[in-house]
Amino acid sequence: MNISTLSIRCPHCKAKAATRSSREITPIYREVYLACSNVLCGHTYKASIAVVSTISPSAIPDPAIAIPFAEITRARGLLGVAANDDVLPANDTDTASAEGRDQA
Ligand SMILES: [Zn+2]
Repeated sequence: MNISTLSIRCPHCKAKAATRSSREITPIYREVYLACSNVLCGHTYKASIAVVSTISPSAIPDPAIAIPFAEITRARGLLGVAANDDVLPANDTDTASAEGRDQA
């Protein structure tokens, strides 16, 4: 799936749908208005896109945004490694990765 063609097929006839418009409700929630491409169907509908979890932290995090970490991020111990964090997690002894991050 290509991000620029993100769409949701018509729930009735399963044809592709075109995005007619969208509006940002919050920085992590957007409403999208779609129209089915099947002229015999003609369904128009509203969908939503929500940011539900962080997989890899932003290097330039907005302090006003709070997104829970994905379970896979917790499992891999990637919490607290955003670029603005100066302190590595207590159990991280890999100094090579810390030096690499500082050069970014
Ligand atoms: Zn349809």
